Amino acid sequence: MNIADILSRGCTPQQMLNSKWWEGPSWLKENPESWPVSDIICQPNEVDIEKRKSKLVNMNLTEDTHPWYAERVSDYDKMIRVFAWILRFVKNGKVVNGKCKDSELSQSEIAYSEKKLILLVQSYYLSDAKSSNFTETFLDNGGILRVKTKIINRNDDRSFLYPILLPEKCEFTKLLIRTVHRKNCHAGIQMMQCLLRERYWIIRARKAIKNVLYNCVICKRFKIKSMSSEPTPLPPDRVTDCAPFESVGIDLAGHCF
Ligand SMILES: [Zn+2]
Repeated sequence: MNIADILSRGCTPQQMLNSKWWEGPSWLKENPESWPVSDIICQPNEVDIEKRKSKLVNMNLTEDTHPWYAERVSDYDKMIRVFAWILRFVKNGKVVNGKCKDSELSQSEIAYSEKKLILLVQSYYLSDAKSSNFTETFLDNGGILRVKTKIINRNDDRSFLYPILLPEKCEFTKLLIRTVHRKNCHAGIQMMQCLLRERYWIIRARKAIKNVLYNCVICKRFKIKSMSSEPTPLPPDRVTDCAPFESVGIDLAGHCF
């Protein structure tokens, strides 16, 4: 009785002509009371159980153009170092011997600074993902939000199996991408994705990388097409068949005596 079946199941031209394609089944013209009743009993509750259960996580992705930790800094490493100095100052609580710098920063101080900055960025941008039951993420021992990938059974580095979740539109991520891009000889999008994926899981990574690469001045300069001109046709003297020395040309005669 479903006239649309002709389209999905196929029919001969004759069947098509005989069909009620334009009218539909004949009982449609009658009153709804006299329409045939289906013997299939539909259970709405059963249908609801089968519905796909998905949870939408609303992540705060508003762009914060100049957070204080990224002010007047255009390099990721410098940002981490500046933050490490701030942390040391806060820890000491005073200026030692008239200056803050009593010794160089240690590796552990820099690692701690990076961790603290990541925590700061995640708490600002990804607080929704943290509070919700977003199954693919979890908090590690240090409180950093990490993504549970599908390859956790692989024997590999832990930061590769559980990468750090980073927002797309934030100055921290931009600086990170820019610095990785510069350190790897201005690598392209795919290589950048692989390099960053080793440690981080950036939301909409491809788009974020594309944005940074598009604004890279050095890449822009090297991608520009060089100027070219159309080759001009040769003069008739040089393309016409002739005897040797019938047609000669002189580039430079020099002084004539
Ligand atoms: Zn570049």
